[in-house]
Amino acid sequence: TERTLSIIKPDATRRNLTGKINAKFEDAGLRIVAQKRIHLTKAQAGEFYKVHAERPFYQELVDFMASEPVVVQVLEGDNAIAKNREVMGATNPADAESGTIRAEFAESVGENSVHGSDAPETAKEEIAYFFSGLELV
Ligand code: ATP
Ligand code: MG
Repeated sequence: TERTLSIIKPDATRRNLTGKINAKFEDAGLRIVAQKRIHLTKAQAGEFYKVHAERPFYQELVDFMASEPVVVQVLEGDNAIAKNREVMGATNPADAESGTIRAEFAESVGENSVHGSDAPETAKEEIAYFFSGLELV
């Protein structure tokens, strides 16, 4: 079993899609073992996405992620990192397979409803960025 960090992004929380997105995770066998709604500051969003600091869309991404509350969560299951990325679909909703979260809900390549960790090391770092040991059972 494995854990991954998921974020339901502002475009999705704004449209009341948290429940529908969580149903996709649970239907895929991913268990939501921690979850909270927070409003990131620009500094926190910038730190979280610092790997993209040199990309042209970085400032837009940071402003978007800090624009409204997000739901940060830890998903657990067999191959949770890869499984979550499968359920999320491609970054650009135009390329996302039907039935995926981004195909159904994303508004654009930037406002694409969800984030998911991409590897075991980043999952560990990203979970620790948002959750203390006490919040994880
Ligand atoms: P995430 O890291 O959010 O799970 P991802 O791994 O599918 O998504 P990345 O390449 O890591 O995609 O990009 C991080 C985020 O930056 C994307 O989810 C999207 O919100 C934003 N982004 C990526 N490419 C673009 C782009 N061309 N224009 C605007 N925003 C973009
Ligand atoms: Mg990524």
